[in-house]
Amino acid sequence: MKIAVLPGDGIGTEIVAEAIKVLKVLDLPFEMETALVGGAAYEAHGHPLPESTLKLAQASDAVLFGAVGDWKYDTLDRPLRPEQAILGLRKNMGLFANFRPAICYPQLVDASSLKPELVAGLDILIIRELTGDIYFGQPRGRRVATDGHFPGAEEAFDTMRYSRPEIERIAHVAFQAAMKRDKRVTSVDKANVLETFQFWKDIVTEIGLQYPEVTLDHMYVDNAAMQLVRAPKRFDVVVTGNMFGDILSDAAAMLTGSIGMLPSASLNSKNQGLYEPSHGSAPDIAGKGIANPLATILSAAMMLRFSLNQVAAADRIEAAVSKVLDSGLRTTDIWSEGTSRVGTVEMGDAVVAALAK
Ligand code: NAD
Repeated sequence: MKIAVLPGDGIGTEIVAEAIKVLKVLDLPFEMETALVGGAAYEAHGHPLPESTLKLAQASDAVLFGAVGDWKYDTLDRPLRPEQAILGLRKNMGLFANFRPAICYPQLVDASSLKPELVAGLDILIIRELTGDIYFGQPRGRRVATDGHFPGAEEAFDTMRYSRPEIERIAHVAFQAAMKRDKRVTSVDKANVLETFQFWKDIVTEIGLQYPEVTLDHMYVDNAAMQLVRAPKRFDVVVTGNMFGDILSDAAAMLTGSIGMLPSASLNSKNQGLYEPSHGSAPDIAGKGIANPLATILSAAMMLRFSLNQVAAADRIEAAVSKVLDSGLRTTDIWSEGTSRVGTVEMGDAVVAALAK
């Protein structure tokens, strides 16, 4: 089992170190190789996704990814910015299906910004299409004035686009995931305004016919945003396009208390996957030793389950995290009155200790 470890920037290195500590105590035959990505790779090699890093990722069964980015790179040309590394990995590895579970741990009900009764027992899965939509559509760009009066651009544009196979395969992923859960899929679109999403809705409906046990409903994205904070437990599996999924999954993250708790998996058709916390590199707290490593540790558990076929080990990690929360240990982002505040390393150590018990 070969794992490419790409810690990246900011808190990425701190939280990935804790996940590796946890993986090591499982005593499974992993081969782990670390490489630079994001701003760290730009500093060393002049590119956020060097060829050697991409090759390592492609040759591995799974990629454990921290986070990339820092505001200091915001003035770089877009292809050289750290965030381009993630887009490059997704595109080159064909990682089209992004799984973002939003689970509210009973111990953290009070950390949510919503009333406890709205989030207690919450367990939803957002499946976001990851390699199409307006983030990848062509043409895109800025138009420059031709009359010479305006030195800058006069307009900017991006193209929203989906192909039939792209929608079909993500719809299958969503229905298959629902079959293992509560058998309900909500497809989120904007079919009332956008051609692309009428097309999306038609194809998801068509694929749904192949899964008669699964109940399918459709929801406009604006309503979905509202329902996510009004009655989030009404959802089971939510499937949507790249841009809507980007936004809705961050909103769903907050239902659970902290973005520091949320893992994610991005898979291709061979079950090769990239596993990363849902949050970014958090430059505001980088180097302070206070970042929550649990999202990354839970991402490692998803990696064991989806790409490495080590379901028992994944279950053990998830149970260990739950035990640590039971014991009252909290990083700052999930701390509340009456619990014990710990740093990144102590939290990782606590998970390791809980695994050993
Ligand atoms: P962010 O997710 O990095 O941080 C948002 C807020 O959440 C911050 O206040 C941060 O301190 C807090 N936070 C995030 N993770 C945490 C953790 N594990 N524990 C405790 N608190 C945590 O988002 P941002 O501030 O908008 O972006 C910062 C940088 O990260 C930018 O350069 C952005 O482009 C990049 N980014 C990268 C990824 C990725 O690598 N996949 C994703 C999102 C943003």
